[in-house]
Amino acid sequence: MILIVDDKPENIFSLRRILEINNFEVDSALSGEEALKKILKNSYALIILDVQMPGMDGFEVAENITGYSKSKDIPIIFLSAVNTDKRFITKGYASGGIDYITKPVDPDILILKVKTLHKLYEQTRELNEIQLALRAEIEFRKHAQSELRERVQELRSILESIPQIAFTAQSNGKIEFVNQHWFNYSDSEETFPETHPDDANISTQWNKTIANKTPLEMEIRIKKLNEDVYRCHLLRVMPVMEGTEIVKWVGTFTDIEEQKQAEKRKDEFLSIASHELKTPLTSIKAYMQLLERSFDAQSPGSGETGKYLERTLFQIDKLHSLIADLLDISKIESGKLKFNKKVFDFEPVIENTVDIIRQTNKDFNIIRRGSANVQIYGDDIRIEQVIINYLTNAIKYSPENKDVYIESHITNDGQLRVSVKDFGVGISAEKLDNIFKKFYRVEETSHRFQGLGIGLYICAEIIKRHNGFFGVESEEGKGSVFYFTVPVYKNPE
Ligand code: ADP
Repeated sequence: MILIVDDKPENIFSLRRILEINNFEVDSALSGEEALKKILKNSYALIILDVQMPGMDGFEVAENITGYSKSKDIPIIFLSAVNTDKRFITKGYASGGIDYITKPVDPDILILKVKTLHKLYEQTRELNEIQLALRAEIEFRKHAQSELRERVQELRSILESIPQIAFTAQSNGKIEFVNQHWFNYSDSEETFPETHPDDANISTQWNKTIANKTPLEMEIRIKKLNEDVYRCHLLRVMPVMEGTEIVKWVGTFTDIEEQKQAEKRKDEFLSIASHELKTPLTSIKAYMQLLERSFDAQSPGSGETGKYLERTLFQIDKLHSLIADLLDISKIESGKLKFNKKVFDFEPVIENTVDIIRQTNKDFNIIRRGSANVQIYGDDIRIEQVIINYLTNAIKYSPENKDVYIESHITNDGQLRVSVKDFGVGISAEKLDNIFKKFYRVEETSHRFQGLGIGLYICAEIIKRHNGFFGVESEEGKGSVFYFTVPVYKNPE
């Protein structure tokens, strides 16, 4: 909108017409005072200002306008009939005018000037807006940056206060911060602590982590500078995400040497205790068998006593297999679990195992499905141990339903697959991943069923050592299928 300021209504009228014909919106004021009030209230793109007015003259009005921050950028054209003198024109420019036109006004020239100045005003306004937006953007970034700096500072103080060795790295893996503990193990923040020669190399694992964009977790032995002993640490590195992007990595080395030593002592204790238990138990069993035979000789089918002897021998067998499991565990820990591998026929092994289980669990229907007349290269006693374990678990964890299926077949890729299906208590989905771990027992059912939580761990180790796979599918309250596969032996000829 254009504001015309003139004390003569007829002048305003003629100017307004010229401008309105050219599609400009026009407002007017009959005095300098009125003009200033309007300028404070409205926004104008251009002011056409008469110089000679009673009261406040055009120059004074212009000086006031350019003094307000709101209106200082509005272009002003002075219009004067009398003061064509150079002095006045100079004063016009000095008081903030952009142009000085003397009357009589040539409408074409006026319109050209108005259009140019109007356009100039619009451009200035746009530029101002852009400048404002840019300023806001800069402020925003400054603020974000200082917030980020604060967050980084906070993270670093936290990392300084923890007892672990800690570091952060950029998304490309370049280490950018290490806490004070780091320098007990490395003299440079670019170099990882020295690892035991038998352990994996941290840098190699680190590069893999960066390339695969996956968290890193590994146990590693590292040693302090100027010390000779290596201590076991758990190295964990987690990505810090912003949306789907990794922006940083945060890593810690936690000293787990004490824990490792305690585990070792526990394993040693288990190993010694189970050895010590096994010897007298073997003697007890032998004496019990002698006793059973002597009773049989005296009175064949010797009633109650025979029954008690049989039950005692059954319990001794259970104790025996518990101790054998404990011994196996300590052998696995020390890498001494031995396998007596040879080529053997699989079918008699599974038949025999199912027979043994049927005899000792007469109230269950152990149903055989499929067959696998193949040879396996492995330890038949250990494979039998896995099948017995699967079957006894299926029985133990099925207090209601007495059907158990055991199936064997050859898979399309030439593996022997054995599965045991029960309709017992089942296992909830979130527990399945842990089922084959050492000492793991499903808490909800552990009070109802006795056990140590080591049978499946041993099975897993046996199958791994036969280059096979193992697993479980289960639904809580419906039952489970435990399976394993091992490669079929192929005659080289
Ligand atoms: P244990 O039976 O002595 O506890 P295992 O290593 O054989 O130890 O089994 C580990 C855990 O897995 C068990 O405690 C039990 O919670 C669960 N489990 C194993 N087999 C079954 C099964 N057939 N049905 C339901 N849960 C099972």
